[in-house]
Amino acid sequence: QLTVQETQAMLIFVADNLIEAKEMLCEIDGKIGDGDHGFGIARGFNAVKETLNSNTYATVNNVFKDIGMSMLRSMGGASGVIFSSMFLGAGTLPDLAKLNTESLTSILREGLKKVKAQGKAKMGDKTMVDAYEPAVIALEQSQDSTLETALKSAVLAAEDGVRKTKEYPAKHGRAKFLYDRSIGIEDAGATTVSLIFKAMYNYLS
Ligand code: ADP
Ligand code: MG
Ligand code: MG
Repeated sequence: QLTVQETQAMLIFVADNLIEAKEMLCEIDGKIGDGDHGFGIARGFNAVKETLNSNTYATVNNVFKDIGMSMLRSMGGASGVIFSSMFLGAGTLPDLAKLNTESLTSILREGLKKVKAQGKAKMGDKTMVDAYEPAVIALEQSQDSTLETALKSAVLAAEDGVRKTKEYPAKHGRAKFLYDRSIGIEDAGATTVSLIFKAMYNYLS
């Protein structure tokens, strides 16, 4: 398990990884969306990095909450609300002193609830939910495992979810106007989610 400071360091590593993925994410979004997803995500995670590098936190919850607030403020728009919600779920939980399989699962489960309440997307709608929900379920099924092992399952579940988004027509966002033409192309936001989980796993392994 990780201390608050180690959690903070892990999430700075996550931010760096997503900033590096900017062009790839724009390219994926460009196939069926407006090609700006990487810009939004990079802007969000640059703000996250700045905040995490200049603050200290008393609880794991506050680290996640601050990430969410930074993303919300810096990204703006509908996708800012969606992606910040992943982290803002931590605000509804009791104080967490350590990050372990159990606490990460509860934070991301709350985040998923928020994302679904905000965006109304369900599994199979070709959104980030298609990677996020299977990853949360994988974490829930790994409660007896170390954080590293639990995250490994979550990464595999998220990546499988990304692959499945190729099979679906889009029902939300700009890609919905392409509907059938969106079949065969993966969803950009789902890719972002898989990269977030992968970066957490890579940091620990
Ligand atoms: P925009 O569509 O405004 O250009 P982005 O390109 O940053 O925003 O983000 C697009 C991503 O947002 C999509 O690939 C999808 O994963 C996600 N998304 C869009 N609408 C929803 C929704 N209602 N619920 C969950 N995720 C969504
Ligand atoms: Mg876009
Ligand atoms: Mg846009």
